[in-house]
Amino acid sequence: MSDNITIRELEFVPLLSEKQVQDRVAELGEALTERYGGSNPLFISILSGAFVFASDLMRQFRADCEVGFVKLSSYSGTRSSGSVQTVMGLEKELKGRHLIVLEDIIDTGRTLHFFLDHLRGQEPASICTVTFLRKPDAAEFPVQVDYVGFDIGNEFVVGYGLDYEGIGRNLPGVYVHNE
Ligand code: 5GP
Ligand code: MG
Repeated sequence: MSDNITIRELEFVPLLSEKQVQDRVAELGEALTERYGGSNPLFISILSGAFVFASDLMRQFRADCEVGFVKLSSYSGTRSSGSVQTVMGLEKELKGRHLIVLEDIIDTGRTLHFFLDHLRGQEPASICTVTFLRKPDAAEFPVQVDYVGFDIGNEFVVGYGLDYEGIGRNLPGVYVHNE
């Protein structure tokens, strides 16, 4: 396995190798092809972190499909709910479509919780969620998760689309901060 890395003075140790990641993405692609092949699903990649996962996973989907990208930003102005998500960039018609939502990582679940609410309002035929990583111990918001690449501990990770202060997204494997 590869060596430890340092990003802006923080040390990270290898958690998942490139091969582990690629093998799992191939399995997910196969499962999605079985379930959605022939229905021209719309993959929705949540930017920025999920773009690497989306790119690899789509190419393991062996049937027609489309892809769209969405950027979510949160405002913490409302005291009651704590957070409001706005959705930018999703210009496709979602009504009647089979949606496959792709996330890089589910931490508290806040991002996906609000986004799924938004999508349900657009009357899609179905919604499926796929996350590359999930931190089960950090869950605070209820979210429907249909496929998980890997469950990990409640620790900060980088690589495969995930960054630390902008760095690390291009790493082919996943690294965890060594505390
Ligand atoms: P949630 O809304 O589930 O709390 O958080 C999800 C978002 O927080 C992810 O899409 C990601 O941008 C960020 N995030 C959560 N945990 C990590 C982590 O361990 N590393 C990195 N780089 N980002 C994380
Ligand atoms: Mg994200």
